Amino acid sequence: MTATGVRRIGLAMLVQESNSWSARQTELGDFQTLRTGAAARELDVADEYHGAAGVVRAAGHEGVPLLRAWAMSGGPLTADAAATLERMLLDAIRAAGRLDGLYLGLHGALAADGIGDVDGHLLAAVRDLLGPEIPVAVSLDLHANLTRRMVRQADIVVGYHTYPHIDQVRTGAAAARLLIEQLTTGVRLRTYLAKRPMLVPAEAQSTGDGPIADLRRLADAVTSGGIRDVSIFPVQPWLDVGELGFAVTAVAPADHPTAQHRCDDLAETAWDRRHDFDVELYEPRAAIERARTLDGLVVLSESADSPTAGATGDSPAMVDALLRHGAGLRSLVTVADPAAVAACHDAGPGTRLSLDVGAGIDRRFHRPVRLTGEVRRLGAEPVELDGPFMKGTRYDMGRFAVVDTGLGPAVLLTEQPAPTFDLAPWRHAGLDPREADIVVVRSAHMYTQAYAPIARAALTLDLPGASTPRLDTLAFTNAPRPLYPLDS
Ligand SMILES: [Zn+2]
Repeated sequence: MTATGVRRIGLAMLVQESNSWSARQTELGDFQTLRTGAAARELDVADEYHGAAGVVRAAGHEGVPLLRAWAMSGGPLTADAAATLERMLLDAIRAAGRLDGLYLGLHGALAADGIGDVDGHLLAAVRDLLGPEIPVAVSLDLHANLTRRMVRQADIVVGYHTYPHIDQVRTGAAAARLLIEQLTTGVRLRTYLAKRPMLVPAEAQSTGDGPIADLRRLADAVTSGGIRDVSIFPVQPWLDVGELGFAVTAVAPADHPTAQHRCDDLAETAWDRRHDFDVELYEPRAAIERARTLDGLVVLSESADSPTAGATGDSPAMVDALLRHGAGLRSLVTVADPAAVAACHDAGPGTRLSLDVGAGIDRRFHRPVRLTGEVRRLGAEPVELDGPFMKGTRYDMGRFAVVDTGLGPAVLLTEQPAPTFDLAPWRHAGLDPREADIVVVRSAHMYTQAYAPIARAALTLDLPGASTPRLDTLAFTNAPRPLYPLDS
């Protein structure tokens, strides 16, 4: 601390959500954001780093930019990438000189080749470097898997309160505010933790309605009397690591009389309601037949192959199902398949062709499907998202092509997975979801707000995949057992 009371607070963020079943590992080159030092500060993105930095600045303290790294969900990091990122973080802390406190934005479900709990591992390394006295405040995604090591190494741990996530800035700000409180009042805060051996399908994790929303209201009601934050972590369920399970945390002074009880009570309430998290699933054919009986657009969620959950977006299962059972229904479906896109670009617009699509990256769940139709539209420009999430972001899905089968289904082929949680990619490719009978999205939940104004109904598909809602079909080997709903 300086004579004027200005604290030097390190600011760092390292976020990726790992899916243990993803068909490909995440490398350093997959980090769309990777900045150290002053360059970390200059990025204008409304993330948790932004929230923390704003609070530090507004309180008159000195924020010291260290690292800002973000990658889309995907497979676990390669050992090389994990080691490099750890070195970047530790080198930046060393280079910063004396710090009074550290804010660290993490996801909490980051895994790497050989390390299940990368976040806890990083926190232990940071703690070694800083020593026991410098407070560390951490923000996490609601899908974090809380470990004992994380809460032991960090003083303050707070998570997003929303899913779909809209409070990244609030969460970073909350963590920084508590860090400043600890630095300026001398009240030692700590994080209390309660866990239950339970997974919740992503489709049942909404904080807008349903059981998690009820738990969130209960958590808000007990955030008083010295308890500064209560966070609920239903955990992202495609993570095969130790200590996997549902968590509740509370931040309160170190000797708080009831914080641990509050966490235990909320975790027990969640456990008692575990059967309420069941999701109604539809076989592809049944979903298509159901859509046929409804007037208006029906959204079919192929959450089993969701890129925002770390899957590869190349399952052709719904192309196959719509060709078999969807004749006459105007349907839109997308498949990531660079080779098929190249074939369409080579053929040119207006050409009629036959090609195999899908299952090019992930071959474990599906086989390629024969697609015959006319190349309607070709393109390469990034799409500007205009839904409630990432609005204004220019999203690069690579080159793309629309193949119209003339039988009902039109297939949007892309080099990188299309962000179908938003309506923009369809329109970008000349397709209008409002005129469709069926739109297939690769998203468990993020799509709901964008499609609600135009959709008659939304059904979740019963399909296998790296992000399947059928958690009982995944071969967990590292997670502790028994674990609901894998074991009754
Ligand atoms: Zn999340």
